[in-house]
Amino acid sequence: MVVQGVDIEKELRSITDPEIPVLSIMDMGIVRKIEQFGDQLEITITPTYTACPAMDVIASSIRLKLIELGFPKVTIKQVLVPAWTTDWITAEGRKKLQEYGIAPPVKSEAPIQCPQCKSYHTEQISLFGSTACKALYKCLDCHEPFDYFKCH
Ligand SMILES: [Zn+2]
Repeated sequence: MVVQGVDIEKELRSITDPEIPVLSIMDMGIVRKIEQFGDQLEITITPTYTACPAMDVIASSIRLKLIELGFPKVTIKQVLVPAWTTDWITAEGRKKLQEYGIAPPVKSEAPIQCPQCKSYHTEQISLFGSTACKALYKCLDCHEPFDYFKCH
């Protein structure tokens, strides 16, 4: 959406997720809607993990970014329904995760692929990795530990 010559969506791509700095909030699928009401911009976001303190950081980053771009009247609306799922992470986002060394989320009981050597021969070491949103895995082929972005 272009408002006063500014491509809002493109600008929001420069805001990254505080917990996964390689992903922008657009890659994460957090931004649901960008709307304009008169001189007001309304950005609707859906929190990823409800207990994620990162959401406050994300909301302020969006606000600051838009103020910087000349939009002083910004409303950030949080919508909880439908709930965010890891399915909302874009294909580009999944690719970026893997390049960063985090296994992207997969459904159900599918094997987790090692982001380093692409082997499916992996095992879970701990349910919690570097943050609560991730689990710690180890590759049985290249022996590298890696974070897996938990599906939910
Ligand atoms: Zn490996």
